[in-house]
Amino acid sequence: VRTVRTVDEIRALSRSWKREGTRVGFVPTMGALHEGHLSLVRLVRSRCDRTVVSIFVNPLQFGPGEDFDRYPRDLDRDRSLCEGAGVDAVWAPSPADLYPEGFATAVEVEGPLATSLCGGSRPGHFRGVATVVAKLLLAVEPDVAVFGQKDAQQVAVIRRMAADLALPCEIAVAPTVREPDGLALSSRNAYLTPAERSQATCLKRGLDAASALFAAGQREPRHLLGACRAALESSPLARIDYLALVDAATLVPVEPTLSRPALLAVAVFFGRTRLIDNALLSPSE
Ligand code: AMP
Repeated sequence: VRTVRTVDEIRALSRSWKREGTRVGFVPTMGALHEGHLSLVRLVRSRCDRTVVSIFVNPLQFGPGEDFDRYPRDLDRDRSLCEGAGVDAVWAPSPADLYPEGFATAVEVEGPLATSLCGGSRPGHFRGVATVVAKLLLAVEPDVAVFGQKDAQQVAVIRRMAADLALPCEIAVAPTVREPDGLALSSRNAYLTPAERSQATCLKRGLDAASALFAAGQREPRHLLGACRAALESSPLARIDYLALVDAATLVPVEPTLSRPALLAVAVFFGRTRLIDNALLSPSE
């Protein structure tokens, strides 16, 4: 696997591949790679000839007091996982490569897409995400970029941005990869104490409880939300940040009954660690 640093290097490499007529796929990450990231790599490899993974802990998307400083970083380990997964290039820019002296531009998706849910709890987060993803896509110029359904709101924001800016890149989504007990894989799971880790299954249990009610025909938001809340509240170490049933496309709360595809989204604190998860409830199914 090649490792490159600067915007100019990755752009030159990607363009050289495209001149050969090959399709380039891209997986943006913050590193601390796990099986969830590797599943995105496999999706890219099934559809493209060349795979680029970026590893960049983006300071713009962390708020004051969040975990930017303690976010796990291990480039050597990430590189060997990429090597094993058949990645062609790892792009690991430094903050100065992406945000040179005088950097003053932001990309901001407006409205509930970026201000609801995680955007409410983490002001400025999606501005940081949209800004860095725009920069990454402009540098790599991929044919396809893949994101995880685990970060469903991020997918909605990036799809909006890509459409609004007419970025010449397909945005693809890969399903959430989970531990055997249902906990969604996340680099942040490493922060959990053993007791928190065992209770962290409450997110998936809550989503499953609501999904089961939904499958049985329940369409009223308060009942679906109530089933999920009960599972979350059965875990004494969990503190609910938000629990919401929203339109899957607009992220506007569903009311009075669910008639279009909806996203049941949860964010829960265990101590200072914040975990998110979601389930899609699709009436057509
Ligand atoms: P991150 O490194 O956390 O910024 O994540 C990089 C990409 O991997 C994002 O598109 C995430 O949605 C995706 N991702 C993270 N965890 C998972 C998971 N458990 N399953 C699928 N995709 C994931």
